[in-house]
Amino acid sequence: MKITNITASLIEIPAAREFEYAWMPGERVQSIKFTLVRVFTDEGIVGIGASHEGRDVETIATIRSWIAPYLIGKDPTQLEPLGEILTFARPFGPVPWLVSQALCDIVGKVADQPLYKLWGGSRDKILAYAGPCKPRSTEGWAEVALQLREMGFKAIKCRLHNLTMREDIAIVEAVREAVGDSMDIMVDANQAVLLNIKGEHPRWGYRRALETARELERLNVYYLEEPLYIYDFDTIARLTRETSIHIAGGEWNVGLHEFECMLDKGAYDIYQPDVTQTTGPWQSLKVGLLAHARGKLCIPHTWGNGIGLAGNFQVALALPNCPYFEYPFDPEVYPVSHNQGMVTEPLVIDEEGYIHPTNKPGIGVELDEEIIQRHTIATTDSF
Ligand SMILES: [Mg+2]
Repeated sequence: MKITNITASLIEIPAAREFEYAWMPGERVQSIKFTLVRVFTDEGIVGIGASHEGRDVETIATIRSWIAPYLIGKDPTQLEPLGEILTFARPFGPVPWLVSQALCDIVGKVADQPLYKLWGGSRDKILAYAGPCKPRSTEGWAEVALQLREMGFKAIKCRLHNLTMREDIAIVEAVREAVGDSMDIMVDANQAVLLNIKGEHPRWGYRRALETARELERLNVYYLEEPLYIYDFDTIARLTRETSIHIAGGEWNVGLHEFECMLDKGAYDIYQPDVTQTTGPWQSLKVGLLAHARGKLCIPHTWGNGIGLAGNFQVALALPNCPYFEYPFDPEVYPVSHNQGMVTEPLVIDEEGYIHPTNKPGIGVELDEEIIQRHTIATTDSF
């Protein structure tokens, strides 16, 4: 089997209403934007992958100039040598892992199996946690927790973005009081990378992270995500040692070597690679298994669109050390029809809060071609 062509398209699907992410105060979000890659083969199998979020035409240009010419003619199932080509393309543009996702999709389609069954098949369903994304008042968080519980969710991730710790803890107290022990609570501080933010955003140091962690322990919170700067491995490791709550992170770290370094230092209890953002699916699997070998958990990060979600889901199902799966959903501003609207069979929870795979081969999704066509704003052929 040989790769005959690689195309990339920029897709932008308008949101039903404008909203703001809790972690990007002051930035108005009007759409879901991502790059879609298709890898074509001489046997008619087509692999698909998507970026986390749109970087306009930069991702397309990187694929066209630094990746496609070196992959065309190669066997797409050779994940290691082809993965090296992607790794070496990395310094020239945005992360190219969406291409890796398309190659892995082909591997599954050749075998006519979903990837998780080829890669360890640890489970056939997994508990979802919902991570509502818009900023809310203390009461708003308690209300959305109850709403999610009503829908069947067994866990919620709260976003802590207040200027004071007192306000942050009030949110978690209100949620705990509302749901009692019927839900697990996670919290995300989003301190690893402070994005280019227009609004006001707190900057945590070790002291705030430690004091927050102590309060969260009292409230029996399952994990604290991204309490400190992405590369402050030693300080993160110190926090992990000095607290009993799980410390989680890794969604912005890139490549196997960074994760290995973090594992060596004992940086986190829970590692959160993302097949679109940190490594491709094949490398994410290795990150998860390395974590497993050290007695650590791996709960992939995911956000953005139904294609990346599906790739991360395959890795989560494959891994023996993945107790939960992040489910991008906000009943008010981020419905399934929006973030998974581009695939024909969205992943949804059952009445007990589990997500089940589609059992389609590869990453397990088919594109809704009509939606993709309608919202394509640039392609490899555009320039
Ligand atoms: Mg996060």
